[in-house]
Amino acid sequence: MAEAISFLEPRADVLARRSTIVADLADLLAPECLIHEARELVPFETDAFVSYRRVPLAVALPRSTAEVAAVMKYCHRYGIPVVPRGAGTSLSGGAIPQEDAVVLGLSKMNRILDIDYPNRTATVQAGVTNLNVSENVSADGFFYAPDPSSQLACTIGGNIGMNSGGAHCLKYGVTTNNLLGVKLVLTDGTIVDLGGKALDAAGYDLLGLVCGSEGQLGIVTEATVRLIAKPEGARPVLFGFDTSEDAGACVADVIAAGIVPVAIEFMDKPAIEICEAFAKAGYPLDVGALLIVEVEGSEAEMDDMLASIVTIARTHGVKTVRECQSATEAALIWKGRKSAFGATGRIADYICMDGTVPLSQLSYVLKKTAEIVDGYGLRVANVFHAGDGNMHPLILFNANDPEDAAKAEAAGNDILRLCVDAGGCLTGEHGVGIEKRDLMRHQYAKVDLDQMMAVRSAFDPGWILNPSKVFPLDGRSAA
Ligand SMILES: Cc1cc2nc3c(=O)[nH]c(=O)nc-3n(C[C@H](O)[C@H](O)[C@H](O)COP(=O)(O)OP(=O)(O)OC[C@H]3O[C@@H](n4cnc5c(N)ncnc54)[C@H](O)[C@@H]3O)c2cc1C
Repeated sequence: MAEAISFLEPRADVLARRSTIVADLADLLAPECLIHEARELVPFETDAFVSYRRVPLAVALPRSTAEVAAVMKYCHRYGIPVVPRGAGTSLSGGAIPQEDAVVLGLSKMNRILDIDYPNRTATVQAGVTNLNVSENVSADGFFYAPDPSSQLACTIGGNIGMNSGGAHCLKYGVTTNNLLGVKLVLTDGTIVDLGGKALDAAGYDLLGLVCGSEGQLGIVTEATVRLIAKPEGARPVLFGFDTSEDAGACVADVIAAGIVPVAIEFMDKPAIEICEAFAKAGYPLDVGALLIVEVEGSEAEMDDMLASIVTIARTHGVKTVRECQSATEAALIWKGRKSAFGATGRIADYICMDGTVPLSQLSYVLKKTAEIVDGYGLRVANVFHAGDGNMHPLILFNANDPEDAAKAEAAGNDILRLCVDAGGCLTGEHGVGIEKRDLMRHQYAKVDLDQMMAVRSAFDPGWILNPSKVFPLDGRSAA
């Protein structure tokens, strides 16, 4: 598998100057903010896309925007590649370094700077974890809506890098819908502010451009995000179906009817069994597929919405409808869902796909996905954000068997092509990274990719920011 994706050749001139670069960075940063010993660099050699790894040249861990700017100014001057890094939970290899790169880690910039309830905003440093934002405002009745399953570890900077989503994004939107402003350090060290506390800014939507730019347009050091008042009540409900196709068709009909619950999450039989064994959440084991539907509001609002969903589910032969009875039960239901990837890792190696399809194609794509994986002699567990059509087939394989690993990667690529061909796209929330870089040609014509690369070049003419990611390596000259 490791041979399948290539990185840019490390630049010999940069490698040759390694000790000088380390010494120069040591002038810019406190000793505890610079890592350069070989064994201490190991934790930074990969992210959650663990199939690939490269030991970076050095790791800089600045404590302020000014220090980030100083590192960028230096690296820009000497053409040294820089790979921004939050918590390194990227599933697409977005934070994997290359040998000639300085990893710019934001983990020491982890302070909440401002909570502004009248304006419903929080301003935080980029290294603050996603969950930390909600935890800081929960007692006052607020939360930050995007909730990736990795929220305990992943950072707001990384969420912005990938435009991350989560189970509760069906109603509240993904990161870009909850982001109001950023402080951004440009490739040459210039510091700019995009957006702010107000709803919209005049001129081009550069904030929208930066959100999801995978660390290639600048380094986010601070973010102002939207805070939302907690609903009066919330209730996850389990809907069990005989088949994945039935469950998928039910999701499509719920959304087509104009009903928007807070979350509609999907698990097929293998995923139900894996998650139940881990979380003991009480998921029904006698069904072929499960939907976790969360409704919120007053008791009357929740009852009303649920009644409409149950009516639609019945037309798809729903076998089980179980309303959760307590906060403890609700927490377990979500624990099981949010631990799905980790729980799967207990039984097998896996790669997680992230294609998104129009809801009308959900059943078809689920069926074809099973056929594709079966054709390679592998197994798949599906657990994903069904309401958004954002699919996460987890392809199970044995990482110690190179042939098995190659098959898993080929199956994953076939599934992503299937999503694109069904009118969807390569990534719903995990980003392109290195994982889907070469499939970008399947989604986009050359002229489209050229336009994107021209934008990237406008921000970073030397392509020093996260250079091996997002675009096919040999397409770069087209910019
Ligand atoms: C178990 C598990 C579950 C997950 N569940 C979800 C999920 O439900 N939804 C979802 O969307 N994702 C999910 N992910 C993927 C991952 O957690 C997200 O992509 C997350 O946003 C990455 O955050 P991070 O801090 O780890 O960033 P990293 O992995 O360190 O970096 C991610 C990208 O952002 C860039 N970047 C990081 N910080 C900055 C910065 N300050 N400025 C500019 N660029 C930056 C990096 O260069 C890289 O391209 C999951 C991952 C795991 C391991």
